[in-house]
Amino acid sequence: MNYGEIISGIYEGLLRQPPQGESAAYIPELAKVNPDCFGVHLCTTSGVEFAAGDSLTPFSVQSITKVLALTMAFELEGTALWQRVGVEPSGTPFNSLVQLEYENGIPRNPLINSGAMVVCDALMKHLPDPEAGFLKFVQGLTGDSAIRYNPTVAASERSHGYRNAALINLMKAFGNILHEPERVLRFYFMQCALEMNCRQLSRTFLLYAGHGRAPADGRQVLSVSKTKRINAIMQTCGFYDESGDFTFKVGLPGKSGVGGGIAAVHPGLFSVAVWSPRLNKKGNSVRGIQFLEELTTRTGSSVF
Ligand code: GLU
Repeated sequence: MNYGEIISGIYEGLLRQPPQGESAAYIPELAKVNPDCFGVHLCTTSGVEFAAGDSLTPFSVQSITKVLALTMAFELEGTALWQRVGVEPSGTPFNSLVQLEYENGIPRNPLINSGAMVVCDALMKHLPDPEAGFLKFVQGLTGDSAIRYNPTVAASERSHGYRNAALINLMKAFGNILHEPERVLRFYFMQCALEMNCRQLSRTFLLYAGHGRAPADGRQVLSVSKTKRINAIMQTCGFYDESGDFTFKVGLPGKSGVGGGIAAVHPGLFSVAVWSPRLNKKGNSVRGIQFLEELTTRTGSSVF
């Protein structure tokens, strides 16, 4: 497969189209990023890499980090985790409060904000310094100690994070948050403020294309069975109330973030990261989805 030629063909084609969508403005720091950045990086499981555009510019991975936190928590907690958070698509926006009230504070899945906060709370049982422990885990997957949080982005979100505060307080009232909500929220915001470039992100997500083996050294970080389940959750829940549409168009397990990034994998074949900050109404990158739709169409390599 000539991924290089296909990637540059799609990339150039999309650059010629007028930009659509807006950057996330509800986190003021994200609104400062040039909305027309566009980067791509693809790694095959056989070790070949392809890139286009702004693939080495770091960006805020935001909700993509929810997959990594889930990976760590699933490993530490095992199936007990599913008593506190479900695995069903929500069909609602990422920060929606409605389901939580009538489902007794149990979030639908770990890839919406409420679910990710339960995951943070679960991780805090195991990590004396959660921010440092989680960062070390992420860096260790690819052996890349240059991966960092951006505390300015975390502080920016924190100062406007009223909805997330509402979510965590509601779950605390239902008894599904063990620690102090303010502390869990601080960890959650810092986790969302993790920065990576497309190369770092696609290398990290090789974990899910490679059946749970750490891209850095091949050690089994996550069992094959748990990796299958995390890929399934990405497939059904990775794009909020656009998960069905993403599956229909692209046909790969993946996760988006409001920083404009998307990471997607084809188990056994490749992982790919795309970054373009302009989002559609559902909070997913417009160009990112267009790029991936064309990629799986032209290469005939969706999982379906
Ligand atoms: N930090 C963002 C929030 O909590 C994450 C949402 C996203 O990336 O979709 O609102």
